[in-house]
Amino acid sequence: MEVIITYDLYQWLALAWMGIGILVFFYLFIQTAPYGRHTTTSWGPLIDNRLGWFIMEFTVLLVLYGWLLLIRFNLSITSWLMIGLFTFHYLNRSFVFPLRIRTSGKKMPFLIALMAIVFNLMNGSLLGIYFAWFADYPDNWVYDPRFIAGILLFITGMAINWHADTRLINLRKPGETGYKIPHGWLFKYISCPNLFGEIIEWLGFAILTWSLPGVVFFVWTFANLVPRALAHHRWYRNHFSDYPPNRKAVFPFIW
Ligand code: NDP
Repeated sequence: MEVIITYDLYQWLALAWMGIGILVFFYLFIQTAPYGRHTTTSWGPLIDNRLGWFIMEFTVLLVLYGWLLLIRFNLSITSWLMIGLFTFHYLNRSFVFPLRIRTSGKKMPFLIALMAIVFNLMNGSLLGIYFAWFADYPDNWVYDPRFIAGILLFITGMAINWHADTRLINLRKPGETGYKIPHGWLFKYISCPNLFGEIIEWLGFAILTWSLPGVVFFVWTFANLVPRALAHHRWYRNHFSDYPPNRKAVFPFIW
């Protein structure tokens, strides 16, 4: 397909989208996103929690691969490796995670799913267009210190995220619905190692791709997850009088 977007235009769109992400960061300190423990019936119609996770997260893969099919599919091995890492994460998030969570009967506002779909439409488009049109890595990029540092962070972040999600999911026995205080491992230091891991993971992706859409995605992840971790942390403190007082929310010893 003929190029219909210049890199200048692409850059402006990506930076504008990043600016919106920064505004969202501040907004989320005023309004906690109502899903999971913060879910509410006052945000309009509700949908099943698992279905919500699936449609929110699978969107990004549909959009990313849609752009590749539309524009160009014969990419370099390096680009495919990066897309593969991204795909691996989102296959877990959209198929495996919703099947593993023990949230039977729980719902989330459809509006939340819709907002996440909009986010994933933009994120999938920025990444898809980047890989199809603009990505141009030298053959030896996988030996570059940026790639090596980035992939180490990505894998470490993903491992922390998965392990933390697993420990949280397993706090409930099948059929249970309440919340318990998580203990041990990174929970000694922070309330939300899963969100900490996810932030590390996408920081790694931004570094290994050394790209504008990688940075924009990282900014959005930080903007979504830091206020969420602080809200979770506050929630724990309000609901459990014996909550460990020295635990931080998301960054050990810091915040
Ligand atoms: P939570 O930590 O709130 O929940 C994870 C799962 O564990 C849920 O099923 C939750 O149940 C359950 N759970 C959590 N804490 C407890 C507890 N104390 N006792 C019993 N069960 C518990 O994570 P989020 O919902 O905020 O996020 C889920 C995943 O999605 C994370 O891995 C996160 O990193 C990722 N994510 C990524 C975003 C991004 O921008 N990249 C944005 C948002 C999420 P319940 O749902 O009933 O609360």
